[in-house]
Amino acid sequence: MKPHLPAASAWTRLKPPLLRFLDNCLSEFSAEASGHVADYIPELSKADPAYFGISLATLDGHVYEVGDSRVPFTIQSMSKPFVFALALDLLGAGRVESAIGVEPSGDPFNSIRLNSENHPFNPMVNAGAIACTGLIYDSKGAAAFEQIRAALGRFAGRDLAVDETVYASESQTGDRNRAIGYLLKTNAVISDDVAGVLDVYFRQCAVLVTARDIAVMAATLANRGINPVTGEQVLSAYAISRTLSVMTSSGMYDYAGEWIYRIGIPAKSGVGGGILAALPARLGLGSYSPRLDKHGNSVRGIKVCEALSSHYDLHMLNRSDD
Ligand code: GLN
Repeated sequence: MKPHLPAASAWTRLKPPLLRFLDNCLSEFSAEASGHVADYIPELSKADPAYFGISLATLDGHVYEVGDSRVPFTIQSMSKPFVFALALDLLGAGRVESAIGVEPSGDPFNSIRLNSENHPFNPMVNAGAIACTGLIYDSKGAAAFEQIRAALGRFAGRDLAVDETVYASESQTGDRNRAIGYLLKTNAVISDDVAGVLDVYFRQCAVLVTARDIAVMAATLANRGINPVTGEQVLSAYAISRTLSVMTSSGMYDYAGEWIYRIGIPAKSGVGGGILAALPARLGLGSYSPRLDKHGNSVRGIKVCEALSSHYDLHMLNRSDD
């Protein structure tokens, strides 16, 4: 006997409400065509601006996904929180916290300005992220990149590859980041091998992820460092809480204040078009849409986060102890 299949409309009604919400976001915000695909890394300009994927992972390990949630793209600055957390655990908080500040800079992500102690303002802007990678490189040498790649993979719950073309493209054009590297060296934040540090940094930015990966990685941050899909404690709860702190104050660069005021969820964006949002004890969200606003944040990704926060009333400073 044939199984009785409900009609399409009934299927739609059977969808979990969360999936329906994500579907609605996808169809509503697909119409949004403002912003520009990043082109200062030439290879990134080839991304199809129509791509749009959203994924949400809950702390019981459910992963919801809609649209282009399995399309790979480069992690870019969304690697920064994970590498900061890794540095805290590998090198000790004292070492990391003495080299890199935790104050918002109010500057764009690629600002070359350091703080009054000639240290990076925070680990979410390029200067702080390059310093973070530099501290790991100083301590681990040639093994540094593999340690970073492996850690990112544990957050995602799978092995992650590198986009060699994007890596080469940024390496050929990344002189501004090199300038930041030399500035850090002259201020003794990182030691000698600036080229070696930048090579690891460019590779780390070129690690390939999907919106689904980002959701699981964000949910791991939201779950005090335990990946809700694999059950692995990836890094210490200390490292994760401090990482979420700097994501809260600086994750969205010179839009960070507005972001936390309006959306109220710790987040991090990347110029590849990804946004990662991690609401502690609740969920992780990953979105992918390559068109960016003037701050370098994905236009549609911001809309998804705004809608999620307001629809489910998720602002982290508007909680009761439910
Ligand atoms: N690799 C990029 C850079 O250093 C990352 C920047 C970003 O995603 N905001 O310029």
